[in-house]
Amino acid sequence: MRVLQAAFPEWREAEPARVEAVERCHTAAYVELVGSISEPTWLDADTPASVTTFEAALLSAGAAIAAVEVGGFAIARPPGHHALPSGAMGFCIFNSAAVAARHAQAELGLGRIAVLDWDVHHGNGTQEIFWDDATVLFVSLHQWPFYPGSGGPNEQADTIVNVPMSAGSGDEEYLHAFEHVVAPALERFAPELVIVSAGFDAHEHDPLAGMRVTAEGFRELARRTASLAPRLAAVLEGGYNLETLPGLVGAALEGFGADR
Ligand SMILES: [Zn+2]
Repeated sequence: MRVLQAAFPEWREAEPARVEAVERCHTAAYVELVGSISEPTWLDADTPASVTTFEAALLSAGAAIAAVEVGGFAIARPPGHHALPSGAMGFCIFNSAAVAARHAQAELGLGRIAVLDWDVHHGNGTQEIFWDDATVLFVSLHQWPFYPGSGGPNEQADTIVNVPMSAGSGDEEYLHAFEHVVAPALERFAPELVIVSAGFDAHEHDPLAGMRVTAEGFRELARRTASLAPRLAAVLEGGYNLETLPGLVGAALEGFGADR
């Protein structure tokens, strides 16, 4: 957060999401559990939490809601796309992109929404939240097989599109997949809003994964996404090289045509 705030000094703080907004995607019992944490603990093998986690996760989801409202980019952590309806997973507490999508439907009068997830990991939480919801298209590009193990080639549904990518894939493979799978899916679904779960851990210098996407590749993915989206918002997911992350977010912002 510090390196991104330094790189984009015009950032604005969002309001925390209201509990009712989070409960559109998560059970009341789970939200209450996160709110009751009073000392450092682990919510799953990868997900530490403490007394400030509830506030941080509400702020992160609130930033995603604000991004949807203004057509912006939520520079926020914790990320969200592994968070399940009733549990934390993989650094994620509340599923900010999903909360923002449901907010757009409930409060902004939007109907059909697409969530495009190009984080290097499969957005299993988002997929689970929207599996039975025909009003939300979920499209995920991710390294597979890889954490969290889901999102394989046979895991598909009418409004769930998984694009598993081999380790070592770079700009050429990602843009090929975008042209042949992602763009046709978006065009067929015709969403009123596209929310990008924008992780940058598929970058060639990211320490957590094995992909070779470059800054230019993220810029082009963003540009092509914007060309297919009547309304657009983005939510930061992964991206773990603090030296490259600001430049990658900047490249995506240029591609989106966002007002920085
Ligand atoms: Zn990731």
